[in-house]
Amino acid sequence: MEINLISDTVTRPTAGMLATMMAAKVGDDVFKNDPTVNALEEKVAKYFGMEAALFFPSGTMANQTAIKLHTQPGEQLICDKYAHVFNYEGGGVSFNSGVSCRLVDGHRGMMTAEQVEASINPPDFYHSPLTSLVCIENTTNKGGGACWDFTELQKIRKICDEYHLKYHLDGARLWNALVAKKEDPKSYGALFDTISVCFSKGMGCPVGSVLVGDSETIAKALRVRKVLGGGMRQAGFLAAAGIYAMDHHIDRLADDHKKAAEIGKVLSKLDFIKKVEPIETNIIIFELDESQMSSPDFLKKLEENQITIIGMGQGKLRIVTHLDYTDAMHDHFLTILKKIG
Ligand SMILES: *Cc1c(COP(=O)(O)O)cnc(C)c1O
Repeated sequence: MEINLISDTVTRPTAGMLATMMAAKVGDDVFKNDPTVNALEEKVAKYFGMEAALFFPSGTMANQTAIKLHTQPGEQLICDKYAHVFNYEGGGVSFNSGVSCRLVDGHRGMMTAEQVEASINPPDFYHSPLTSLVCIENTTNKGGGACWDFTELQKIRKICDEYHLKYHLDGARLWNALVAKKEDPKSYGALFDTISVCFSKGMGCPVGSVLVGDSETIAKALRVRKVLGGGMRQAGFLAAAGIYAMDHHIDRLADDHKKAAEIGKVLSKLDFIKKVEPIETNIIIFELDESQMSSPDFLKKLEENQITIIGMGQGKLRIVTHLDYTDAMHDHFLTILKKIG
């Protein structure tokens, strides 16, 4: 039994999803004539209670488009030091938008409102870059799937209003936070200027992200997406997967979270594990006691059992549960883990 736990992006479309994709009515989305893409965009906008949405080939492009819309070259955005937009988007912030990042030393990828306020450059001090945007990530990726406290997000909104800053949410795994904390997506829609969500993570789709915002912002986003080369033609086949996922794959994320917690419990009992970070959703980050077991040895022992997990550098390892990680795989993995220990 092959068990791949490197990411929640490794899933393959289910039979139900594939059937829906194959049956999709499509058109040319560059002419905005694909009924299924239009339906997905409407569905996501409605879900968040926002005016409009736009389908993207990747989460990176959706985030980069938002940053482009909210900033001018030379300006600065504020984000946590772990932020995906800073660490994992190829330097797109500077490449696409000509802006710099003011990094905040947050906790598990999350900042406090006080830290955000302290990072704003004085607008009349023309020697430093003008701060124009705050980027949040929920759940945090490098922060181990941690979920924000909504009241902190509200406090940051207040600061954005006070200092005339835009407020973007990288919600690649926002679905996981909504399920884990039983939150209302519309409360997020009411708070942020733009939100990006990923369909190719826990939702089990092969491709796709969506950016939501007001009509004016999304109309501008269409132009930026074009410039970035993100216009797709009969993309309804892909959008159909997103519609299917919203109908069938949101509530079940709780099962990924439950399995992750169970894995964490077993890991924390093993002698050679030094630390397991708190598990809130489907990501488990942990460290080995290298004097007892080195990371390469541990990865090799798992590999001998056809189990793959991933190293994050600095002695940290990561496991991510997902739609294709079945109950049988879970039982098998837990048994193997106990044997290694
Ligand atoms: C995966 C991810 C993205 C987008 O990634 P793509 O691979 O470009 O779809 C953005 N933000 C976070 C936090 C992510 O985990």
